[in-house]
Amino acid sequence: MSDQRSTATREEPESGGEPQTFGRCTECGTVYPAQIAPGGEVRPVGTDGTCHCGNDEFATPTGE
Ligand SMILES: [Zn+2]
Repeated sequence: MSDQRSTATREEPESGGEPQTFGRCTECGTVYPAQIAPGGEVRPVGTDGTCHCGNDEFATPTGE
């Protein structure tokens, strides 16, 4: 049996703890709802972590 479920990739939008914000793609400027990872990384919610343009770097519109 090799039925390993990758629960690590399953993120609840309201897990209570991580602030929810917006992330803007640094390439094309598309804005996604996002969460800030503990390390300060902006991670878009509802995608696999990358923009539709292929970029995986996001910045918060607030500038911080
Ligand atoms: Zn993009």
